[in-house]
Amino acid sequence: MTTTTVGKRVQDFLSTPQQLFINNDYVPAKSGKTFTTLNPATGEVLATVAEGDAEDIDIAVQAARKAFSDGPWATMSPSDRGRIMWKIGDLISEHLEEFAELETLDNGKPLSVALAADVPLAAELFRYMAGWATKIEGNTIGLSVPFLPDAQFHAYTLREPIGVVGQIIPWNFPLLMAAWKLGPALATGNTVVLKPAEQTPLAALFLAEIMAQAGLPPGVVNVVNGLGETAGAALASHPGVDKIAFTGSTEVGRLIAKGATGNLKKVSLELGGKSPNIVFADADIDAAVAGSAQAIFFNQGQCCVAGSRLYVEDDIFDEVVAGVAEIAKSMKIGDGLDSRTDLGPLVSDEQLRRVSGFVDSGREQGAEIVTGGHRDGDRGYFFQPTVISHTRPDMKVVEEEIFGPVVVVAAFKDLADAARLANDSPYGLGSGIWTKDISKAHKLAKQIRAGTVYVNCYNVFDAAMPFGGYKESGWGREMGHQALDSYTEVKSVCVRL
Ligand code: ADP
Repeated sequence: MTTTTVGKRVQDFLSTPQQLFINNDYVPAKSGKTFTTLNPATGEVLATVAEGDAEDIDIAVQAARKAFSDGPWATMSPSDRGRIMWKIGDLISEHLEEFAELETLDNGKPLSVALAADVPLAAELFRYMAGWATKIEGNTIGLSVPFLPDAQFHAYTLREPIGVVGQIIPWNFPLLMAAWKLGPALATGNTVVLKPAEQTPLAALFLAEIMAQAGLPPGVVNVVNGLGETAGAALASHPGVDKIAFTGSTEVGRLIAKGATGNLKKVSLELGGKSPNIVFADADIDAAVAGSAQAIFFNQGQCCVAGSRLYVEDDIFDEVVAGVAEIAKSMKIGDGLDSRTDLGPLVSDEQLRRVSGFVDSGREQGAEIVTGGHRDGDRGYFFQPTVISHTRPDMKVVEEEIFGPVVVVAAFKDLADAARLANDSPYGLGSGIWTKDISKAHKLAKQIRAGTVYVNCYNVFDAAMPFGGYKESGWGREMGHQALDSYTEVKSVCVRL
């Protein structure tokens, strides 16, 4: 048997109309509105979900404020907070199959990927951040106040939670993005209103139940599904929200930053990318070819860090491009529940049209489609893995984030040329380098203006390794202890002795 049959728990979950999650309770949207989420492999309705808007966001923000100010969360010891978070991680692991099935059905990704990557990484994130709950520390500071030469002081810093945090997440890794956001917020004692993407509203609701089961008190995490322009915008501009954290497109990131200006809430943004992946002639060619294909085709290319600009040193250009194209052609496109599937559907019809539109623009501007370039089949939102050559730097396919399984390739002549090409983008999220020369690798790693540089690997994520963008790819970092900085305020306490 090659196609997984979805388990009873997930079937029951899908057949129950899903509501908002506020104060550890499932409640309908005040307007009574609902929307449907589709299975991108078939285009059929998967589930019905309550559609929250500004009014529901307001109720959720009030719940989060109450939980922050006077619930058990406010007085809980860091150790107890960490224990609940560890338990959330363990419960995610216990429900591995169910989460993976939901991710595959809602997002389209191969079940094997959800089982091996999305769900275990989310569980690990909670466990990693659980450890930090007891390690949020300030410093003592020796003062030398020049106008009080004889005075003595005891000065120190406290690191305190920011308060009520709004979090808006995308659809490419629904559970994992929720975990990346919730982990540092909870470890530092904040409370949260989470708005998942309207294309993939299910994982966060499933997670909400598990978080309550793990002992998270009411109001600490509230999940309000709804549209970006209504629920999302209301959260970003809400005067009762102290910080907004967003992952998504650079375009929407700008709107979030603007929306935040009213009460000048803190903002962190993890945005788009057009990441360069650079293959030198002295690389292990087989590894570089396989790695470059994985860099772009993983998660159907719907990865903000995808290696979507492939630069290959002159001497091996034809060989590498042919190798990546060969892998693209051999990939099995299909329903994520089919164990033979390498590449699932794109998330939505809109995304399919967006990706097709980019490839068409490349064609019209004179680029060569080496392989792929078309929708696959006429049911669901499948798009062929695509390699585009003979591009110019000013083409849309080279400049803009496509967010699909589409890579543009170009040749370079030496390290300086590679560095120039790599940095020739307003984005700065990720990058890849393939070479056996460690000196060259480290030199170039320093020159690339991006938040992550992968050397002889790509798409490696770890809860301990910070992730985020230079330039227009964002503000702040996800994961690692760096993520904690953007969820704490620093208070200086200055005591004259
Ligand atoms: P994509 O364009 O790939 O769907 P987006 O950046 O639009 O990605 O979406 C990421 C998240 O941002 C989603 O949760 C979406 O609902 C939300 N969003 C979209 N538009 C807005 C907006 N104007 N204000 C706040 N959130 C938004």
